[in-house]
Amino acid sequence: MAARRKPFSRSAFSAAAASFSGAVRAFIADPIGPGTLAAMDGHTELPLVCSARKCRAPAAFALHWNNPALHPPERRKTWLACVEHRASLTDFLTARGFLREVEELPAS
Ligand SMILES: [Zn+2]
Repeated sequence: MAARRKPFSRSAFSAAAASFSGAVRAFIADPIGPGTLAAMDGHTELPLVCSARKCRAPAAFALHWNNPALHPPERRKTWLACVEHRASLTDFLTARGFLREVEELPAS
C-alpha cells in the first residue's frame, strides 16, 4: 500500500509563495499607500489625493489639524479631502476638537 501524499504538496507551497511575493510586489508598487502617508505628514508635493480610506479622488480641501495630546500647539497635521469626503473627515476632526483650519485647494 503506497503512502498517501501529504496534502500540502510542494507545488501547492510554491504557488502560495509565488502569490505571496506577488502581493508584496503589488504593495510596494502601489503609489497610493506611501503617498497617502506622506500627505498625512504634511508633504503635499505628491499628487493631491483624498486621505479618506480607499478614496483616490483628487483632493479639493486640506484639513489642518492638531491633536493636543500628541502634538505641540504649533504643529499641524494635514488631511486631504475630496468634495465627497470633506464633511465626514471634517466631522471626525471636529468631534475630537482637532480641526484647526480648512483650506480650499485650487482646482487643478
Ligand atoms: Zn474622498
